[in-house]
Amino acid sequence: MTESPSLAEAPLEARSPFELRVDMGKGVPEAAVRAALATGDMGFLHSFTTGSAVDGPGVRVVAWTASCMWRCLYCHNPDTWTMGNGMPVTVTKATEELRKYRHGLKTMGGGFTLSGGEPLMQHRFAFKVLTAAKGMGIHTAVETNGYYGDRLSDAELETVDLVLLGIKTWDPERHRRLTGMDIGPTLEFARRLAALQKPVWVRFVLVPGLTDDPAGLVGIAQFAAGLGNVQRVDVLPFHQLGSFKWKELGLDYTLEKVEAPSADAVEKACVTFRAAGLEAY
Ligand code: SF4
Repeated sequence: MTESPSLAEAPLEARSPFELRVDMGKGVPEAAVRAALATGDMGFLHSFTTGSAVDGPGVRVVAWTASCMWRCLYCHNPDTWTMGNGMPVTVTKATEELRKYRHGLKTMGGGFTLSGGEPLMQHRFAFKVLTAAKGMGIHTAVETNGYYGDRLSDAELETVDLVLLGIKTWDPERHRRLTGMDIGPTLEFARRLAALQKPVWVRFVLVPGLTDDPAGLVGIAQFAAGLGNVQRVDVLPFHQLGSFKWKELGLDYTLEKVEAPSADAVEKACVTFRAAGLEAY
């Protein structure tokens, strides 16, 4: 697929994923969007960021994909929910971007992370970009809520060195209220990754009053520990950095009064995970 000059000129690199980006795919005909989804020759990206130290091991280049079918109440990137907010980027262009950083990434023990949004909403594109990264000898990670994990075959998962799996909360009803979706497919994907012995880091956002119930923490901890392939758990403190986006997008943000958890609360959550035998940070 060829790229139009206007798309090639678009600034792919963002200062941070907290940059509000909307309508970057506006004007792309629907047929082109459908073709892109089917072939994976083109994807829709919120942005590329470089130098991330928190999205997998080492220093990483992160591609943030557009589109997510979940509606997490605490989502700090609601501008990534819609495919049309993403910038159309060919696999060729994404590969060229990555190529610029490949030596540095290898030297710094880092790699490439595909995040979002939900990257597996564009699973053909994800597979092609990850294949390109692997072909350059770059370590690859995918950050996903796992809901569409079954879109990648076992063979396709070989292009992924590490899965950063978001487990949002444990109780199924609470999960539905928090994300709008069922937890079942995420857990199913986690079990499949365990059977494949694929390294996983669990990502858990600690939100006071929403995800900090002790029974829920124990539930996630015991599940993750029982898998045998979870290398660590990242406890991510809730923050308000993305709340302005909800307002700008005219979305109903319900966590305005929720404060970030204290350092003690974060440590307590880590202790729960460690008590189950996991590394937690
Ligand atoms: S899964 Fe991630 S991108 Fe999707 S709504 Fe939840 S926090 Fe936002």
